Amino acid sequence: MKAFIATAIASLLCLCTFRLPLVAQAARNVDVIDVHLHAMNPEEFINPASANFGAVRKTYGTNERDPEALLRRTIAEMDKNHVSKGMISGDDDLVAKWVERYPNRFLPAYNHWCDGKPETVAKFESEWKAGKWKAIGELGLPYGGHPLNDPACFPLFELAQRYDIPVFFHTGFGGPNPQSFVPKFRISLSDPLLLEDVAIRFPKLCTSIQPQ
Ligand SMILES: [Zn+2]
Repeated sequence: MKAFIATAIASLLCLCTFRLPLVAQAARNVDVIDVHLHAMNPEEFINPASANFGAVRKTYGTNERDPEALLRRTIAEMDKNHVSKGMISGDDDLVAKWVERYPNRFLPAYNHWCDGKPETVAKFESEWKAGKWKAIGELGLPYGGHPLNDPACFPLFELAQRYDIPVFFHTGFGGPNPQSFVPKFRISLSDPLLLEDVAIRFPKLCTSIQPQ
């Protein structure tokens, strides 16, 4: 996974040195991985999708209405943009279904609140060893009213550091009127600087922030 991402980033950085026509040509040949995709029921986003401002204004009025259509469109967008694989998180059942349908296109990621319980971490460990998960994230801790440096996540981070499992964090905004569907969301809980504590405590943890 880390190697996949490193390859993708290195490839993109290299592309910056070419002139534009060559970029278009080269983009078709690199192994681009999108590390921020969600397999979720669109019904859950009816409220934020009804707003026509901010980050959602580009897609306003075009949101899919059912999970099957969302899957078809996700694959179509990946093909159009030469994305070979996508890391998906969200609804566990949908994530499993998408991976089953397109095992070579999707990398499943574990996305849950942290309860700090050893049995929860042990369950994740056995599922990871069985190949059910390839990463942790996108952790949307602030949506549940938890800060990015929530100590309840530390046992999970310890495990991730030990096995070199990448961890992805949601930071920043929560979309238009986030409290309409996640009442506990606070922007202060999403401050990327809160990850300083995590970086100091787990210096070898492979992390990435996913703004908005
Ligand atoms: Zn996200």
